[in-house]
Amino acid sequence: MITPLSLLVSHQYWENVRPQGFSLPQCQSCKAFHFYLRPACPGCGSLDIKAVLTSGRGSVYSFSIVHRAPSASFEKDVPYVVALVATDEGPHLMTRLMKIKPQDVKIGMRVVVIGWRTHRDPADQVSEGAAPPLFEPDLS
Ligand SMILES: [Zn+2]
Repeated sequence: MITPLSLLVSHQYWENVRPQGFSLPQCQSCKAFHFYLRPACPGCGSLDIKAVLTSGRGSVYSFSIVHRAPSASFEKDVPYVVALVATDEGPHLMTRLMKIKPQDVKIGMRVVVIGWRTHRDPADQVSEGAAPPLFEPDLS
């Protein structure tokens, strides 16, 4: 049985869409993208929502540098960057920025999702692991 998109919590959503690539919920009525998941389109109220493959690109809307590990499992990671990324399709996502020194992160810098198939990178390789989407600087 397939669970409707609107009933999935965030990590379940990412596990669910991983085989098709980095996809965001899109209203099939007004074509607006949104995220987090909602039972109905926040723009028009339609219940016809599908996960649609996106560019995987965006820009840093805001960020914070974490210096104090929230738990022992994060101690090896600090300092690290938690960012709000504005995707090119519109929705903002909370994520981590990888492969960049925290002091080099700038508001507005271009970023790209790591390890997920996108419509600009339609390679047949299946994404690795079960990690949620992380981003890195877009050097293209
Ligand atoms: Zn809509």
